Amino acid sequence: MKNTNNKPGQLKRIPFSEHQIDESNICQQARFVVETLIEANYQAYLVGGCVRDLVLGIEPKDFDVATDAHPEQICELFDNSRLIGRRFRIVHVYFGRNNIEVSTFRAASRHNNKSSKQESTGRIVRDNTFGTIEEDALRRDFTINALYYDIEKSEVLDYCSGYDDLLNKKICMIGDVATRYREDPVRILRALRFRAKLDLDIDAGTEQPIKKLGHLLSDIPPARLFDEVIKLFHSGYAVRCFQELNRYQLLKILFPITHKALKHNESFGLLIHNALENTDTRIAGGKSVNPAFIFSILLWQPYLQLLEQTTKQGIPYAEGAWSAGRTTVLDQSTVTSIPKRFSIMICEIWKLQNRFKRKQGKKILRFLDHPRFRAAYDFMCIRAQAGEIDQADCQWWTKLQTLSTQEQHKMIALKPRKPNKKKT
Ligand code: ATP
Ligand code: MG
Repeated sequence: MKNTNNKPGQLKRIPFSEHQIDESNICQQARFVVETLIEANYQAYLVGGCVRDLVLGIEPKDFDVATDAHPEQICELFDNSRLIGRRFRIVHVYFGRNNIEVSTFRAASRHNNKSSKQESTGRIVRDNTFGTIEEDALRRDFTINALYYDIEKSEVLDYCSGYDDLLNKKICMIGDVATRYREDPVRILRALRFRAKLDLDIDAGTEQPIKKLGHLLSDIPPARLFDEVIKLFHSGYAVRCFQELNRYQLLKILFPITHKALKHNESFGLLIHNALENTDTRIAGGKSVNPAFIFSILLWQPYLQLLEQTTKQGIPYAEGAWSAGRTTVLDQSTVTSIPKRFSIMICEIWKLQNRFKRKQGKKILRFLDHPRFRAAYDFMCIRAQAGEIDQADCQWWTKLQTLSTQEQHKMIALKPRKPNKKKT
């Protein structure tokens, strides 16, 4: 397919007859937000990943709207809205648990003024300089993410040849590639995620600086890296994303202790692979996934190494497991933060692994009722799959959960309860 390569900033309109987007994939709430803005005499378009996905015939997972209305003006129009963000001031319009992200057209930040701020490495830490739609297109990351959809005319607006790049299955950075990665190194992870998820190629020029600049990811605040890592592993293509991280030596930046442990332990690699495959299958089947699970897998070997030390020091298991768990999680948190609700769950999953060894006694019934039993059990199954524990042991626990209470008592060798003696 030929690439028309219109000059950056030069508008190309793609009519419905050409793109043939299935408009039933556009969520009603996004439509409502766009129409409300237009009624109030603002410009408003769907933008970014949702337009990219619509063109590819994929149902978008979230919708973004771009407008010339300023954040305060957007908030005035929608009761159910909130201004968020410092780095980018955007508005979330809420519809129950769903929200539509609305951002004002922005220009590339030009100098260190009040609206935008750049560090000496080139990283942009604040960018709130408003601009025109053309400028807004040029400050986006990849050409395929810089498409706008005009709902009224059913037209795709393309300022950066993104439409042709999409048809040619190419991820191309807008502007000078190295500068754009330096402005925001997270764009590296985004390029890899889109390649893994959308089965696109990364243009040679866009790929070339990744190896050299990957280290810049260590300057990104841990909370943002946590979000980005979860996007990679919950994209439905976690196995591929993990391969991408390895390919560009990014694992040692994002998960240094995992990377170190992998060097000495091949079966750990298999455990990770199986867990990621399992996550992809769950997502494909519409099942829920939890960040704690991915982290408990990725940090499992580093945790075991610390646990072993506590055992050698004669520290009792319960205490040793908590301390090894806390230390492992804290260590990782310096790179990607791990919110407390997940870190507690991770430590619990690890600590409970010991309880699968025991197959007799009353405590087993209590274990089945433990709020974290299910997560610990799933984790144990993955370990069994990777050959860490006996498959037969895993099957024993699987079977136990399918039985009636009476049958369970038999299986765990509990004697039937004697009827209470009547007091006289
Ligand atoms: P998906 O939502 O499928 O993960 P997306 O491209 O929609 O992918 P979002 O994080 O929802 O990603 O961002 C919406 C749009 O905002 C992007 O398509 C892109 O135009 C712009 N954008 C997001 N992150 C960046 C970034 N780091 N640099 C430049 N533009 C960005
Ligand atoms: Mg999106």
